[in-house]
Amino acid sequence: METNKPVKSNSRKAFKYRQTECLNCGQSLDLSDRYCSYCSQLNTSKQLSVRDFISEFVGSILVYDSRLRYTVKDLLFKPGTITFNYVGGKRLKYANPFRFFLSVSIIYFLLQGLITTFSSGKSPFLNLNNNGNPVSLDSLQNKNLTFPNGNGSLDTLVISGNTFKINSDTIAETPKKTEKVFEYISETDLDTLDWSNRLVERFSMYRDFYKLHDIKNADVALDSLKHRNTSFNRWVYNKNSAFDRIADDPFGFLNYMMGKTPFFLFFFAPFFAFFFWLIYSKSKYTYMEHMIFIFHIFSFLFLAFLICLIPDTFLNDGVFSGIVFALIGPFYFYKALRNFYKQNRLITIIKFVFLNIVFWISSTFAALVFFAISAAAY
Ligand SMILES: [Zn+2]
Repeated sequence: METNKPVKSNSRKAFKYRQTECLNCGQSLDLSDRYCSYCSQLNTSKQLSVRDFISEFVGSILVYDSRLRYTVKDLLFKPGTITFNYVGGKRLKYANPFRFFLSVSIIYFLLQGLITTFSSGKSPFLNLNNNGNPVSLDSLQNKNLTFPNGNGSLDTLVISGNTFKINSDTIAETPKKTEKVFEYISETDLDTLDWSNRLVERFSMYRDFYKLHDIKNADVALDSLKHRNTSFNRWVYNKNSAFDRIADDPFGFLNYMMGKTPFFLFFFAPFFAFFFWLIYSKSKYTYMEHMIFIFHIFSFLFLAFLICLIPDTFLNDGVFSGIVFALIGPFYFYKALRNFYKQNRLITIIKFVFLNIVFWISSTFAALVFFAISAAAY
């Protein structure tokens, strides 16, 4: 095909620049070879001119661009067929399914996070500027300040003009001033409990202490409580500020959780693929090929959500995403099963229902575990 095109005499593809050995990999070549048969580099000894360099650069972008275009087009309009083609050997035509899925979903959540941040005017992170004015230390008392890294970066707190120095005396005195009695539990007392009670008691005591004294710094708090300054204790204590951050800005927390979804799906897919492998055991596809099918489905969903993001933002509700989720998604999934596994309608419908049940039950369970872990790390 390519060899039939006429070549200009000064082109890098011109015959006079051909060699019998590839400059890139050393594969021996014929003078009729326009490209190396091993590494596919252009067979030319011509020195690079500005024009050559630019056209090579643009060419590489266009190749990537055409892959992307094919992938998006076939993913949207040829459910299942894209997987059928890819698995059947048309690899270079399409983007890598795993990379494509991760890119699309991450772009989706980044964009969604940006839109949420700007449309609600709420930043998931603390705005320390306080509208250009420095934060007055008195305001610390009334305002629940949150720290993006989860660690209070204040070593000494100055509240109402007094340096808040923490020592055992203040602990002994302060509870008398408040109505709620602070029940102090020493490390030795905690050691007598079994591990689950110990954790609960430790956390609830730290929570009370935190509410009472408003000390964000775990080192300071543990020191005044005379508890061991271990990384675990600091972690437990720092959950206090995470609690406040969630209460302060639930949207920020939701965004944080949603942002984890691509990774969740990425690790969930191998498990889900197992069920495909099970109910399509008679098909010729390998476990890996079922997985590619799943990644194509996930990619479609995120691509569709990405497209819906702009109109949904303007209408200020999720009507388009809702339609994708409730109607287009299931229909697409059914069509994809039909086109990829090529079974008749009835069998496909039965498998469709089974896979949906499996998906919802197992993903709910896996999501609970996954999000509990994410929340612990928040
Ligand atoms: Zn080569």
